[in-house]
Parts: sequence; structure tokens; C-alpha cells
Amino acid sequence: MSGDPAQRFAAIVGSSHALTKADQMAAYISDTRGRYQGSARMVLRPGSVEEVSAILHLASETGTPIIPQGGNTGLVAGGLPLREGEGREIIVSLSRMNRILEVDTDTNTMTVEAGAVLQTIQQAADEANRLYPLSLGAQGSCQIGGTISTNAGGTGVLAYGNTRDLVMGLEAVLPSGAVWNGLSRLRKDNTGYDLKHLFIGGEGTLGIVTKAVLKLFPKPRGRDVAMVGLSSPRAALDLFNAARSMAGNALTAFELMVDTAMEFTLLHAQNKPRRPLAAQHPWYVLLEVSSGRLADDARLLIEDILSSALERGLIADATIAESGQQRANFWALREDMSWAQKPEGASIKHDISVPVGAIPDFIEEADAAVLAITPGARIVNFGHMGDGNLHYNISQPIGWTAQQHFDREPDINEAVYALIAKYGGSISAEHGIGQMKRDRLAASKDATALAMMRQIKTALDPGNIMNPGKVIWPEEPANRA
Ligand SMILES: Cc1cc2nc3c(=O)[nH]c(=O)nc-3n(C[C@H](O)[C@H](O)[C@H](O)COP(=O)(O)OP(=O)(O)OC[C@H]3O[C@@H](n4cnc5c(N)ncnc54)[C@H](O)[C@@H]3O)c2cc1C
Repeated sequence: MSGDPAQRFAAIVGSSHALTKADQMAAYISDTRGRYQGSARMVLRPGSVEEVSAILHLASETGTPIIPQGGNTGLVAGGLPLREGEGREIIVSLSRMNRILEVDTDTNTMTVEAGAVLQTIQQAADEANRLYPLSLGAQGSCQIGGTISTNAGGTGVLAYGNTRDLVMGLEAVLPSGAVWNGLSRLRKDNTGYDLKHLFIGGEGTLGIVTKAVLKLFPKPRGRDVAMVGLSSPRAALDLFNAARSMAGNALTAFELMVDTAMEFTLLHAQNKPRRPLAAQHPWYVLLEVSSGRLADDARLLIEDILSSALERGLIADATIAESGQQRANFWALREDMSWAQKPEGASIKHDISVPVGAIPDFIEEADAAVLAITPGARIVNFGHMGDGNLHYNISQPIGWTAQQHFDREPDINEAVYALIAKYGGSISAEHGIGQMKRDRLAASKDATALAMMRQIKTALDPGNIMNPGKVIWPEEPANRA
């Protein structure tokens, strides 16, 4: 079939769901941090898997690059046009495909469309007296398809695992337009390669996820949260190991926060939070314990953990939330840390992981290296310590311009990533690769792993239409023009 490709794409979804004007597309072509701004040919908002299939079929025929997009909360510019792009890409937003299709409390699964917002899914699970444990700061706007495609982590990983551990089945549309129905609800299914794992963490480079079957968990009966003040990451590591050995899987969160991160949040969070402890401390831990049997079990356990830590001198002060509201307030302090850095100016960010036991040494060496490069830099380090995952962010020194700060970014990155290599860590713990870390991945990952990734990409997407230039180039750099 011939005709103007733009019109043919628009005809698939209907003209009201094909956005081409600059003001309509603005929110789809820039990121939340304001570091990426691209241009796209159009934004398509399909309403069904058939429409997604028709879009990809036409894209394959015309060689049109396609970018799948969820809530556009991703932090590595994976769902945005390429910086070096020419405005040829078409963004396919899943936001209209947002239904919860089924909650099955016998099998403990929920079947959803990819555009369903994470918070809506959490609420639907709650109403069914179940838990969908994925929880992160962007949950009010990120979509389940985005969390699957980035293998999102968040605060529940310690007890429940990453998104990879929470998905039972998927439906995805391949670049050819073929629809793969892998909506399995089986806990056991050893029938060859487990294909869903190609799309979980695939960042839209192999196809578009259109539906998912999610695992549901029993809703905890008791949940207690404490805010703890302590002197150092070493003390936090000792507290973590003590809490883990006392609580086992009942320890459901262990978040580490440096004082600077706490102060920025107390200063800038919109709800004007109160200081959680009487005094200021160099480091804080938010510790959560859950119980499945009786509500009181969590309370007794968290009290035991804290009193024994106080006796051993591991912690300086601690307070347990006395109400649901106070518990939410403690969590808000942690979750608002991402936003609270913005008013403090430019920030150089690293979402990294190291083995949990290496965290204190890594922090000591990384802080020294960063401050040697940029004296006066404000290190805003916080993260999911129980998973070895730190958001190691560096805000500009007071009085500097953003440009001055970013001029040092290459040196700071080299220093931080050299330490990541030294400690056997990862350059991306939970945000993915996108376009931001693509070249760093190519420079740091095992050569055989890169070759296998390229073979998978080429096999599933021979025309390189799915999110090209994200995660991995299909050819060796030497073969690229
Ligand atoms: C304040 C804040 C806090 C955050 N906290 C965390 C955190 O704790 N843990 C964490 O892991 N992340 C966190 N993130 C990052 C982000 O929220 C997650 O990566 C989230 O999973 C992205 O979902 P999204 O729907 O916004 O996806 P988008 O940003 O739209 O897309 C992300 C990637 O997935 C692809 N994609 C999206 N939908 C589909 C689909 N249906 N099919 C195929 N590919 C698709 C895109 O092409 C892109 O490569 C945070 C972000 C913010 C802004």
C-alpha cells in the first residue's frame, strides 16, 4: 500500500490520537530532569494490541524508528528521541491501554494492560486484600509497561525482588507486528527459553509490551517503620546485618540516606516535613519490618532490633512511626529526595550497585575522589542499601553555575565508575541504560555478553526499528558509520 507514511500511521490510531503539533508533543520529548530534549515526527496513542501491531508492521515496512513510551519517568532517556536523532522517530505512548483486566485471588495474579499506572495497580491489589510490592517515587505516573521494560527496582526489592521476579507472563508485539501471547499464569513452566525475560529490562529495544500477568502477594498484617540516626555507612552495614539476622525476610526495607539528602528534603519538600529525629545526624536509615501473622509481631521485632542496636552502640537515635500517617511521612522523606535536589542546582547522578559489604569502602573512596575533583561539591547519597544500590548524586557547589559543575562531569564519572569496576559493581543498578549509559555499557561490559546482546537484537529486530540507539548498537562500534 502506498501513500504518505505519516497519514498511514495516523489512520491506524485515528487522527485525534496522532499528535504532531509542538505543544501536543512537548511532554513526550523531554525528560523530568530537563537534560534531554529531542524532536519526534509524531506521537501515536494506540488503543489496542491490534493497533500496536499495525503500527509496528508499517514501521518495519517503511524503516521508521519507533520509541515505546510509558509514563516518561525513566531516568536514562530510554523513552525519548535520540539526542543525535533527526526527528524521524515516532513515539508510541501506551497511556490509553491502561485497563486492569483481571484480579485472580486463587492464583494470586493480576492481568493488566501495559499502560496501567503503577499506583492504580497497587490500589487494585490492596482492594483485593493482596499486595503488588513494587514501590517507587514515580509510582503515581510510571506505567507497568515502563517498569517491566526497565526491570524497575524500588524499595521492596529486599523482600520481593526486582520487577523480573514479579512478572509471570507477558504479551508483546514484535517489530514485525507479530503478537506474542505469553500471558502465562503458571508458576512452573520449563518449556525452553523463558522469553519474557528478553522484554523485562529490554527497554523497548526488542518489541512493545502490551499486557502482563503480575504476581500478587499476601498483604502484610503488620508493618512498622523506624527512622534511625547513625554515624557512618559502616554502622549502617552493621545495623543491616543485625536486622537481617533477627528479622530474615520480615525486613522489608533498609534505605540509607546521607545528612545532605535529608537536609535538602526538609528544606524543599512541598509538604514542609518535620525533622524526624530531635537532632541532626551524619547518616540516616529508614528501616521497615513487616509481619504476616499478627500486626504486633512487626512491632515487637522492630523494637528488638533497635534496642539491641542501641545497646551495641550501632545507632545514635531512633524513632518508630506511631501511626499510619507518621509511617507515610517517613517514607515521603525518602521518596522526596529525588525531587528535593532540583532547587539546589545541577546534579551529576549515578544509579550504581556494589556488593552490600563493599558499601562503606566504596562511599569513603568515592567521596574522597569526587571532592578532589570538585572541592565544595555536595554529595547527595541515598539508596536501597539492602540491595547494594546507591543513588550517588553530586549537587553543584554553592555559587557555581550548572555549566561549571557539568564541565567536571566526565572526570567525576571516570572516578566513580573506576571504583564501581574495582568493587565488581554495576554501572546501572535499576534505571537501565537508555541513551545515557549506552556508550559506558559498550566500554565496560564483558565482550561475549555484548556479542550475545547484539545477536538477540539483530535476530528479533533485523531492521533496527525498535528504539534504535538505546542500550546497544546492533553492530560493533568499528562497523558503524
Ligand atoms: C522520582 C523518581 C523516582 C524513581 N525511583 C525509581 C526507583 O526507586 N527504582 C527504579 O527502578 N526506577 C525509579 N525511577 C525511574 C522510573 O520511574 C522507572 O524506570 C520506571 O520503571 C519507568 O516507567 P515509565 O512508565 O515512566 O517508563 P518510560 O520512562 O516511559 O520508559 C522507560 C523505558 O521503557 C520503555 N518502555 C516503556 N513502556 C514500554 C512498553 N510498554 N513496551 C516496551 N518498552 C516500553 C521505553 O522505551 C524506555 O526505554 C524513578 C523515577 C523518578 C522520576
